[in-house]
Amino acid sequence: MSNFIGSVIIQENDKSGDILKGDCPVCGEDMYLKNFTKYFTIFDKSVFRLELIDTFYQCDACQSSYNTSLKELVKLDDLKKELKFQDAGKLYAKALIAATTFMAIVDGDLDKHEQRSLHAVIGKYSNIADELIETMDFVKNNGNKNDYVYILLRKVRETLSAESLLSLLAESVKMIMADGKMEKEELLLINSFLLESGLPKSLYTILVDKIKA
Ligand SMILES: [Zn+2]
Repeated sequence: MSNFIGSVIIQENDKSGDILKGDCPVCGEDMYLKNFTKYFTIFDKSVFRLELIDTFYQCDACQSSYNTSLKELVKLDDLKKELKFQDAGKLYAKALIAATTFMAIVDGDLDKHEQRSLHAVIGKYSNIADELIETMDFVKNNGNKNDYVYILLRKVRETLSAESLLSLLAESVKMIMADGKMEKEELLLINSFLLESGLPKSLYTILVDKIKA
């Protein structure tokens, strides 16, 4: 249904056209400067810019994204750079495990399918498997105690980008949904993940697109 007036958030290339050549921390391809911009809409047509939500670099090849500090990071020597990127990858994996475990226990218990999905992720990051199992067990037993899950998500949003956080949540939802449809509790949880990470609720539509992709 068309609304007379409303707003939409669009991902677009930054006007500066800034590119970091061959600097994708994950695959080594180019990183492009992009924005999430909120537009005012009339009958679902974007009319004018309301607000810049986030600016980040993104790789078109593997879709990884990183905040604008990447521009300075890539100037560091190889060892320092490598350590920074390893930390970022570790943070992403840890937050992914925490969010997915939390979503999985919302309906009471961790079923076989959910356990298998979690172990598949842990397998992908085998060098930090012990730490990830610790994270999974902590959330299994304590849920979001002391905002444990929210704090990790906020760190992903700050260290990587809003885009990374949306990709993480989409990955998490896909794992939980693989057994069928999303429960109402899980939908509500996704919304609170967005809000608690300081992202506007309107990014939900971009998240849904990522889930369907
Ligand atoms: Zn890449």
